[in-house]
Amino acid sequence: MKIVLLGAPGAGKGTHAQYLSDKYDLPHISTGDIFRANLKEGTPLGQKAKAYMDRGELVPDELTVDLVLDRLTRPDCEKGFILDGFPRNLSQADALTEALWEKGQAIDCALHFTISQDVILARMSGRRVCPSCGASYNVNGMPPKKEGICDRCGSAVIQREDDKPETVLKRLEVYREQTEPIVAYYREMGREIPVDSAASIEEVRRRLDQILEGENGCQSEI
Ligand code: AMP
Repeated sequence: MKIVLLGAPGAGKGTHAQYLSDKYDLPHISTGDIFRANLKEGTPLGQKAKAYMDRGELVPDELTVDLVLDRLTRPDCEKGFILDGFPRNLSQADALTEALWEKGQAIDCALHFTISQDVILARMSGRRVCPSCGASYNVNGMPPKKEGICDRCGSAVIQREDDKPETVLKRLEVYREQTEPIVAYYREMGREIPVDSAASIEEVRRRLDQILEGENGCQSEI
């Protein structure tokens, strides 16, 4: 199953990607996580991406597209994948469609997490992430079992630099201008499936299971 996750920053893509990846045994490919890992390791890619990330802007396509397309050629992607945070503009979406098309493949579904801006702002102020394993939490609703400590690996969780309010507003603006058009792109391909992500985590999980376990894999008419 080849899945793309769409939705504004803070809509819950990372949280639900983690669930889907564990349950359906598909690699979770998050471009944001890849950039953050490179930043932490001080690689040339991380150094180049940093300024864009700090400003809440998109890292240029030259640094992003080949990175993802190359990742998709690894053996663990043969059974499918979950793309979280890519594509983020129309040219990335085109590059992905073409690369898959050359292999006679296509995206099965683009799960579109819908949510209002007010809820996003409230959620993002509470978001905490684990800098070691990438797990994400929220102090309002989904905190780690032990305050401030990652359930999975025991590291101290942190607030991402780009989850600070000024950067969040910029990221939402970038989302509206550059990323939102790809919702229509996947809708026209008959692949977009809306998921109300203002619902509780359990409800969203039920909805995701319904979609993925539908007769033909991904089904939009549920
Ligand atoms: P995320 O964790 O998905 O919210 O991504 C964090 C930041 O990484 C974004 O604000 C961008 O600066 C950068 N980024 C992640 N994915 C992409 C992408 N597909 N294209 C360009 N920049 C990206």
